[in-house]
Amino acid sequence: MTQTPTARPARTATPRARKPRGEGQWALGYREPLNANEQSKKDDNPLNVRARIENIYAKGGFASIDPGDLRGRFRWYGLYTQRKPGIDGGKTATLEPHELDDEYFMLRVRIDGGALTSEQLRVIGQISVDFGRDTADITDRQNVQLHWIRVEDVPEIWRRLEAVGLSTTEACGDCPRVILGSPVAGIAADEIIDPTAAIADIVERYIGDPQYSNLPRKFKTAITGHPLQDVVPEINDVAFVGVEHPEHGPGFDLWVGGGLSTNPMLAQRLGAWVPSEEVAEAWAGVCGVFRDYGYRRLRTRARIKFLVADWGPEKFREVLETEYLKRKLIDGPAPATPERPGDHVGVNEQKDGRFFVGLSPIAGRTGGQKLIDLADLAEAHGSYRLRTTPMQKILVLDVAPDRVDSLVAGAEQIGLSARPNAWRRSVMACTGIEFCKLAIVETKAQAARVVDELESRLGEIDTPITVHLNGCPNSCARIQVADIGLKGQLVPGPDGEQVEGYQVHLGGGLALDAGFGRKLRGHKVTADELPDYVERVAKNFLAGRTDGERFAQ
Ligand code: SF4
Repeated sequence: MTQTPTARPARTATPRARKPRGEGQWALGYREPLNANEQSKKDDNPLNVRARIENIYAKGGFASIDPGDLRGRFRWYGLYTQRKPGIDGGKTATLEPHELDDEYFMLRVRIDGGALTSEQLRVIGQISVDFGRDTADITDRQNVQLHWIRVEDVPEIWRRLEAVGLSTTEACGDCPRVILGSPVAGIAADEIIDPTAAIADIVERYIGDPQYSNLPRKFKTAITGHPLQDVVPEINDVAFVGVEHPEHGPGFDLWVGGGLSTNPMLAQRLGAWVPSEEVAEAWAGVCGVFRDYGYRRLRTRARIKFLVADWGPEKFREVLETEYLKRKLIDGPAPATPERPGDHVGVNEQKDGRFFVGLSPIAGRTGGQKLIDLADLAEAHGSYRLRTTPMQKILVLDVAPDRVDSLVAGAEQIGLSARPNAWRRSVMACTGIEFCKLAIVETKAQAARVVDELESRLGEIDTPITVHLNGCPNSCARIQVADIGLKGQLVPGPDGEQVEGYQVHLGGGLALDAGFGRKLRGHKVTADELPDYVERVAKNFLAGRTDGERFAQ
């Protein structure tokens, strides 16, 4: 750059050495809160907000809620205020948080391992019908999210959920979120190890435990024993991935430090093999390292991935072993990497000769009545177990061979397909502007439009192409690991005005293609032209690929 004559000369004096600023790590003595979130958690353990919801806010209504609880501690029970209708995405960044708040809430029901009984599914569906205007979305973390919830109704909702063994405890907030678990745990013929007991152990011992309820930020866990690594372990804070040890047999390989958002990182192996009965203890150790050594000064650096990136896996393992577990972990081999993560859609045989049927809504969108209808349908076909999946799908388990066709036909009638076109199967979307206060653009209806258009224009394709839509720069729908990732933002429209659109990321993936899509400079597409764009990209790929080539290769 050319300097102007008036530019000041560069300073040559040696700058005084700055004392490094602490990262707010408790283990290094930084116990004083360094930001408002840390202060709020110190002022009162967020788990205590439950009593106030039951005794004060449910009686006094929205206006009675303390702002610190409303925008902070409510999250520990899965409650977020939803976006006031009618506020366009251009105002998301300019309005104050309270100006975006509706008096209604999103409520996230925690479903560890995605495991539901038909009765539990019916209860969630009925809550949606009675209190949530029939909204119900299956998320990519196996939860079900309801909307339009009033604080007055929350105690009754908890009563109904807890009567069937469900909860919303720590469904959001700086705490251990829902445990992702293989949707085919215990039923798949090719499973390496069943993670069911390990997941239950963690939930029973540690969820809702005040020792682990004030973490630097959210803490995401994934556990699978299936060779198709069906819980996106690469992008979780901690993951246990099924592997056969040559001497000790089946167990789990321990990974830490994965995550997406603005600084995406893939989890790293610690090289340790953990038997099923020790998973909960190892999990608590990793969670403890995060709690005590995690960075609390800046929210943007408060995920465990930054600590793992700075320390490296060797130091992380050493601290875990010496300070938390007080013993050495057993060295173990890496699991084989599948070509793609499994989504379990379709009709598949279980190891006991019965079948599970993987059903696909579009981008996770269902509804309360639809969930009730599905519970009824499953029971009418002799099934009492279902599983949500991290791909926004739902499985019906334990179907007798002679009942499969009837179940598939019945599911089709309620809008859930066991034989979806590749587009319906591969499109995911986050909540978006309909309900999310951070959103800039719409996502769910846009996803449905893309599926409809692509199905009719291109029909069936032999290689799935994943298309993930986010409503803002966060990555709730995992855009960086999609073949075509779409990050919602305002983009120049045909007449130069700002319109809803997306920044495109191309070529991300998981499993064999684990890596983040490339953000192509200037590659932005308006919402209106999105189906045309996806069609063009898909046609180019299908026309130019070599034999067996995958999109992300
Ligand atoms: Fe909301 Fe953004 Fe997450 Fe979508 S990606 S749910 S818009 S925060």
